[in-house]
Amino acid sequence: MTVTEGAPRGVIPTQLLKGQKALVTGANSGIGKATAIGLGRAGADVVVNYVAGREEAEEVVREISGFGVRAAAYEADVSREDQVVAMTERMVQEFGTIDILVANAGLQRDAPFTEMTAAQWQKVLDVNLTGQFLCAREATKEFLRRGVVPEVSRAAGKIICMSSVHQVIPWAGHVNYASSKGGVQMMMQTLAQELAPHRIRVNAVAPGAIRTPINRSAWDTPEAEKDLLRLIPYGRVGDPEDIAHAVVGLASDLMDYVVGATLYVDGGMTLFPGFATGG
Ligand code: NAD
Repeated sequence: MTVTEGAPRGVIPTQLLKGQKALVTGANSGIGKATAIGLGRAGADVVVNYVAGREEAEEVVREISGFGVRAAAYEADVSREDQVVAMTERMVQEFGTIDILVANAGLQRDAPFTEMTAAQWQKVLDVNLTGQFLCAREATKEFLRRGVVPEVSRAAGKIICMSSVHQVIPWAGHVNYASSKGGVQMMMQTLAQELAPHRIRVNAVAPGAIRTPINRSAWDTPEAEKDLLRLIPYGRVGDPEDIAHAVVGLASDLMDYVVGATLYVDGGMTLFPGFATGG
């Protein structure tokens, strides 16, 4: 059986994150865009970070503003320390604080191992891992400065790292990407351990195959989609909203006791689907 319908729509409770300020990196496309919109729908004010594509970022801001919350687009390259520091300082100045960081920005530079250049390796590590480190560090400084404000949230701050099933599934031809996500897993767990005593919750979402520009070739022809579905027990490719829903939940006090967890949102991709009939 092939199920074709996508993520459920209209299921986000609209007051869940009321009064909170969220920063989403890489929020003008794909998962980051859906997540920024989801957080806005849940009542948060949202900063939409982008590195290129100002118009798309402004479009996301307009959509979020339609929910009656505040939104703004900030340009910054998450792999550049000076730009991340300036972005978070600007957010604190203009929005008052940061309650939620979604460290989402990421990219791929694929190549067979012996053809992969040091520049391809470095670029992916710089954006996918160092970028999350820098954003998490700067957000944490603000969480620690402000502390818990009980009327807003039981936690002083929430960090959600966008990882991938490839933090545990090796991926030939993508050693830079898989290594960056493996690094995100250990960074997230270490930060969660270090920051929990300060009532800062650090968690990760690990998407499986989600329909976005990053992996278009894996789903945009019927043959490619059929191949991909062999890896997905639930029988559908994910939508960005599937990830947005997980992030909104993790960021909210509904999940106040969830610390250092990775939520796999993958239609069962990490369940070794080949073993359903073999083994
Ligand atoms: P996408 O290409 O649509 O979005 C990536 C976003 O990151 C874009 O807005 C891009 O401009 C931004 N970005 C890239 N470099 C940046 C930089 N230096 N500074 C700031 N922003 C930067 O792809 P997506 O699928 O939405 O990816 C979002 C995240 O989800 C990534 O971390 C990716 O690894 C992860 N992910 C995606 C999938 C999937 O199937 N689509 C699966 C697992 C994990």
